[in-house]
Amino acid sequence: MLSPTNTVFQVEMLALKAAIEWANTTNEEVNIWNGSKSSLQALKSLNVKSKITQEAQMTLLKNARIRLGWVKAHIGIKGNEIADTLAKEATTDGIPASLPFPKSFLKKQLLQLSLSRWQAEWDNGETGGSVYSIIQKISNKQLHWSRECIQFATGNGPFPSYLKRFGLHSTDYCGCGEIGNPLHYATRCPLT
Ligand SMILES: [Zn+2]
Repeated sequence: MLSPTNTVFQVEMLALKAAIEWANTTNEEVNIWNGSKSSLQALKSLNVKSKITQEAQMTLLKNARIRLGWVKAHIGIKGNEIADTLAKEATTDGIPASLPFPKSFLKKQLLQLSLSRWQAEWDNGETGGSVYSIIQKISNKQLHWSRECIQFATGNGPFPSYLKRFGLHSTDYCGCGEIGNPLHYATRCPLT
């Protein structure tokens, strides 16, 4: 019994590896017939990342008496049908096994974790006040904002309110007499 996060491939490969290891303990020639094409393909590959697969490959390399073959499932081959039945039983009352989670799953988990941390910092942080009023929800998708939109939302642009902070403008007032921030120019300023 494995966790639902483990992939079908991991499970099939784990079963195949168990068969290979059992075959390795006998001193006889063993033919292992397997229904999983992807597992057999992976064992032939020179560039596999799965640790289970690599371990199975090592055993196969050291023991030429083990041979693998593919067999079509569900066509009444006795051994195969028995294996199927056993597999089904194992899903309900098997011995718990644990496999490292697949990389794809961990990647997704990490992304979610970092996004939620980022969101918390964004919600409670001191920076980005004016942008926060426009974007409250963190996302790692690119927004494709124009340069003008970014200047408007962040306030980092040719506005007195911004320039004064860096000593590039003597006052943060607009020529019309009000504070010269982006919202002012966009909504209130008679000069624009
Ligand atoms: Zn103005």
